[in-house]
Amino acid sequence: MRGVRRRLMPWQTHPNPKPEPMTDQNKGPMVLPGATIGILGGGQLGRMTALAAANLGYTCHVFCQSADEPAAKVATQTTIAAFDDQTALDAFAGAIDVATFEFENVPIATLERIARKAPVHPAPAVLAAAQNRLKEKSFANSLGIATAPFQAVASVAQLQAAVDQIGTPAVLKTVRFGYDGKGQVSIKTGTDLDAAWASCGAGPDTDGAILEGYVDFDCEISVIVARGTNGQTSSFVPVENRHTNHILDKTIVPAQLPQSTLDAAIDIANRLAEGFAVVGVLAIEMFVTSAGDVLVNEVAPRPHNSGHWTIDGCHASQFEQLVRAICGLPLGDPSRRCDAVMKNLIGDDVEDWPKYLADPTAKLHLYGKAETRPGRKMGHVTFLRKPVGD
Ligand code: AMP
Repeated sequence: MRGVRRRLMPWQTHPNPKPEPMTDQNKGPMVLPGATIGILGGGQLGRMTALAAANLGYTCHVFCQSADEPAAKVATQTTIAAFDDQTALDAFAGAIDVATFEFENVPIATLERIARKAPVHPAPAVLAAAQNRLKEKSFANSLGIATAPFQAVASVAQLQAAVDQIGTPAVLKTVRFGYDGKGQVSIKTGTDLDAAWASCGAGPDTDGAILEGYVDFDCEISVIVARGTNGQTSSFVPVENRHTNHILDKTIVPAQLPQSTLDAAIDIANRLAEGFAVVGVLAIEMFVTSAGDVLVNEVAPRPHNSGHWTIDGCHASQFEQLVRAICGLPLGDPSRRCDAVMKNLIGDDVEDWPKYLADPTAKLHLYGKAETRPGRKMGHVTFLRKPVGD
C-alpha cells in the first residue's frame, strides 16, 4: 500500500455525520404489476431486467438502436431510434409508466425529456454524477468516503502539475466515457506525459481527464445496494472481482475479507445510495488495501456485471430489486442462498456452453448476441457452491 494512506487528505477519512441527499425525486404512485416499464438501452443488463420484470407481471418497452440487441429480443415492445430522436422519445415516454436505463452513457438530455412525461429512476442527476469521474469521486469525498487522491487535468501542463502533486505511480483517465480500461493510461516515473496525454484520448467531449493516485490494492470488491421510493436500502453481500485485460473475468461470492471490512464496504454503499437519493440499484466498485482501507473507485446507478450471480444465488436478484424499487414495491430479500463464483463468457469463451450445460452446479446465461467478437460479453455462468448455513 505504498503511499496511498499517506496521500489521503484528512477530510477523505472522516465521515460526514449528516450527508445531504442530492435530490428528492422519490415520491410518486406505485407502478403496479401489469404496467409497462421503459428501459433505455438494449444490452444484457436490460435483457435481465426485462426478464425479472416479466416474472413480476410487468411488460417492458426497450428503447435501443437495433432490434438485434439482447434486451430487444425479450421485450414486448421496442422503439428503435437514436437517443436524440425527440419524436421517438416523446412517443416512448407516453407509452410507459416508469423508465429506467441499463446503459451508463445515455445522454442526460434524453432522460430529462422522458421525465417530462414519465418518472425516471434513478434520477437523471444521479446518472450525470456517475458519468463523470470527477463528480462521483468529489461526491464520495463530500460524504467522508475515501477515494484515491485525484486532480482534474485539462492539458499536458496540468498533467505535469498533477503528477508533481500526486506522485507516481498514477492513472490518467478520461473524465467521461471510459470503461473496461479504455481511455486509461498508467503514469510511472519517467513516463512521457505528452504521449500519455495523447493516448488517453481526453478532449472537450470527455470533459478532460482525471489523474488518480495508483492504489496498490489487495483486491477489488463491489457492493450492490437497492433503494426504494420510501428510502429503504438493502444491499447484497460484498463480492470480489477479478479482471483480465481490464474486463471483469470472475466474481467470487462472498469476498473473503474480515467482517469489519465487509461491514465498512456495506456502510459506504448505503451512505452513497442515501447521499445520491437513488431509487433503483447502485453498484459501487471499491479497492481494499492490505491495511484494510476501503476506497471507492466507481459508482454505477444500474445493475452491474458483478451482481449477475444474484439471479441464481439470492432470494431476490439485483434485477428484481431494481424492478421493485422503481415501481415503488417493497424490496425483496437480498440474502444469498449459497456461495458462488460467476464467470463471464467473453468472446470465444461462449463456445464452451455445452460444457456448462452438462455441469449441474453451473447456471448458464447466454445473451443472444448474434456476433461473437473478442472482448465482447456473450454470457455468463454462475457456479453454485456451498449453501449458506451448511
Ligand atoms: P475503472 O475504469 O476506473 O473501473 O478502472 C478499471 C480498472 O483499472 C480497475 O478495475 C482497476 O483494476 C484499475 N484501476 C483503476 N483506477 C485505479 C487506481 N487509481 N489505482 C489502481 N488501479 C486502478
